[in-house]
Amino acid sequence: MTEIQMIKGDITTLKVDAIVNAANNTLLGGGGVDGAIHHAAGPELLEVCRNLGGCDTGQAKITQAFRLPAHYIIHTVGPVWQGGQEDEEALLRSCYENCLRLGRKIAARSIAFPSISTGAFAYPLERAAKIALQTIYAYLAKHPHVYEEIYFVCFSDHDLKVYQKIAKEIY
Ligand code: ADP
Repeated sequence: MTEIQMIKGDITTLKVDAIVNAANNTLLGGGGVDGAIHHAAGPELLEVCRNLGGCDTGQAKITQAFRLPAHYIIHTVGPVWQGGQEDEEALLRSCYENCLRLGRKIAARSIAFPSISTGAFAYPLERAAKIALQTIYAYLAKHPHVYEEIYFVCFSDHDLKVYQKIAKEIY
C-alpha cells in the first residue's frame, strides 16, 4: 500500500527517489520551484537539461539530481491557466500521470510532487489540487504496489490546507 503524505516544505530538501520539477517548455530553468531546484542541484543540472531539447506541456523528462538529496528529478511542464477552455485539465492530469509512469520506469519507490501550475502558471489552486489527488488515487487503484510513498510538498500553510481539504472531500 502506498502512503500519501501532504507536507509543508521545500521540495529540494527531500531525500526521496525522485522529486518532480514544475518546469517550463525550455527546461532551462525559471522562477519558483524550478529556480529553487536548479539552484540547489547546481550548474550540472542546466548542462544536462540543455541536451534534452525542451519538453511539451503535459509531458515529462528525467535527469539525475546532482547535489540534491533526491536521486532523480522528473521535469514536467504544467499548463498555463487560460480560463479552462484550453485543455488545461487534461494537460495537468497528464503531467501527474507521466511523472508517475517515469518514476516507475526507474523503479522509484518514493516520489515528491510540488503543486504543478499553481504558481506562475496561475492554475486555480483548488481545481489543481483536485486533479492532482484524483489522478494519484486513480493511478494507485491500478498500481497499488509501485510506490511506497508519494509526497505532496506544499510551499505555504494555505496550500497545505487546501490540499488537505480537497483530499477529505474526494477520498
Ligand atoms: P508553475 O510555473 O508550474 O506555476 P511555480 O514554481 O511558479 O510553478 O509554482 C508551483 C508551486 O511550487 C507553487 O505553489 C509555489 O509556491 C511552489 N514552490 C516554489 N518553490 C518551492 C519549493 N522550493 N518547494 C516546493 N514548492 C515550491
